[in-house]
Amino acid sequence: MQNSLWLAGVEKLSLNKLSTSLNCDVCVVGGGLTGIYTAYLLAKKGLNVVLLEGNSSVGIATTGHSTGKLTPQHDAIFAKLIKTFSEEEARTYYDANVNAINNALQNISIDVSQKVDSYLYATTEQGKKQLDEEIEAYKRLKLPGNETTETELPFDVLSSIKLSNTSQIHPTNFALHYAKLAIKEGANIYVNSRVTKVVIDEKTVYVDDELEVSYNNLVLATHYPIEAVKGLQIAKLSIERSYLTATRTTELLKGQYLSVDTPSRTIRTALINNQPYFIYGGSSHKAGTIEETHSYYETLQNEVVSKFDLPEPEFLWSAQDPDTADSIPYVGPITDNESNVYIATGYRKWGLSNSLVAGEIISSAITKEKHAASDIYNPSRNQFGITMLRMLNLIGFTVANLADGYLTRMDAPKCTHLGCRTRWNDGDETWDCPCHGSRFDKNGNVIEGPAVYPLDLKS
Ligand SMILES: Cc1cc2nc3c(=O)[nH]c(=O)nc-3n(C[C@H](O)[C@H](O)[C@H](O)COP(=O)(O)OP(=O)(O)OC[C@H]3O[C@@H](n4cnc5c(N)ncnc54)[C@H](O)[C@@H]3O)c2cc1C
Repeated sequence: MQNSLWLAGVEKLSLNKLSTSLNCDVCVVGGGLTGIYTAYLLAKKGLNVVLLEGNSSVGIATTGHSTGKLTPQHDAIFAKLIKTFSEEEARTYYDANVNAINNALQNISIDVSQKVDSYLYATTEQGKKQLDEEIEAYKRLKLPGNETTETELPFDVLSSIKLSNTSQIHPTNFALHYAKLAIKEGANIYVNSRVTKVVIDEKTVYVDDELEVSYNNLVLATHYPIEAVKGLQIAKLSIERSYLTATRTTELLKGQYLSVDTPSRTIRTALINNQPYFIYGGSSHKAGTIEETHSYYETLQNEVVSKFDLPEPEFLWSAQDPDTADSIPYVGPITDNESNVYIATGYRKWGLSNSLVAGEIISSAITKEKHAASDIYNPSRNQFGITMLRMLNLIGFTVANLADGYLTRMDAPKCTHLGCRTRWNDGDETWDCPCHGSRFDKNGNVIEGPAVYPLDLKS
């Protein structure tokens, strides 16, 4: 099993498992950054909040396997957004992320977050063309990025966009910090408490099929929504898996970098216990579709040594994130009819700042305040053309993978979500489902959903 740099030696919060049925104003399911920050904001407003986390700790799932860049520079997104949304809406997306980051950083110390510049760069003509379009979008939206070819990288770039004064964080410590603040504000956080059933009509969730938590409002902050069928998110979210490495280095970079070339590469440094680490990652594929994932790690390991003249990485990890057809996450009521059940998903690998936006949108909705970005993040927004195309593609993809599993992997365990045959992931030693991204450890325990029950390894 590979290890994330962020989980090495991290202090764990001492939290209990749910042992009795409860009532609350707001039940938050999932203790990643989305759930924790939402719980913190709601508890601060005086609501009675219960957060249920299926793992043994909070902040260790996707949040603890990210790169830890906290920036509104979300890849080359603005050129895409202005093709689908109005310029005003695209600018709202940027402003919502900037504001949410600034608000959250007010309570954060230098140990958990540092200021750096964010760069998007290209080393190929194809990438440069993409950056040219992004630069044009920055100009139209009046975003504060500068074009430059000067970077600290040990190779030339053809073009780059620098966004000054952004942040990078230790994502797990950042999440733990907010978990402590949420508890201080009165939130009750339970670990090892997996929600296995959601009965929306009864306003109740069940932990391990036994204990009941009754709520007025429910926030499904489970990364991929476990109740996804309701709002048809199951047919709208595509999931990409990517790879990261960390190796000891001697100097910290002043910037954090992302290439727009194919395959893409991400670069930053981090200081962990006074030791600088160089973090290098990239490449992606549809979650659950590759068995020989060790080759992704090997490619990155070789590049760290050959391109950056650094030792072989000590830490190797990977993670996945769902994305939406129009690139803006789904944050808000799961359907128009269920205004007290919220989801937050589809972050497209930019879920650290988008988790903070999600916390603000959902907590505002619950306390009946209007958030400036709630319409563009609304899961029921009308993007008929591209959403329909995405749904047709995904339904085709799922049916093909379901059939392929029964034709080629009859001995692989069946996913407990909808019964697709899983696939062994040799780099991470996990069973991964290609249909909706559920993952299980080698003993069959759930690592991430939408599945909520362990695998039957004899199925
Ligand atoms: C390789 C990679 C690098 C990334 N780097 C960045 C980056 O640099 N910057 C950035 O902004 N974004 C980044 N992201 C995206 C970001 O990490 C995620 O979008 C974000 O962490 C998601 O947070 P979350 O709280 O929604 O999910 P998670 O952190 O996954 O938390 C969800 C929680 O819900 C729990 N859960 C699930 N089901 C249940 C259940 N049934 N009952 C109880 N609990 C349950 C899980 O155990 C988990 O703890 C990256 C993503 C990837 C894949």
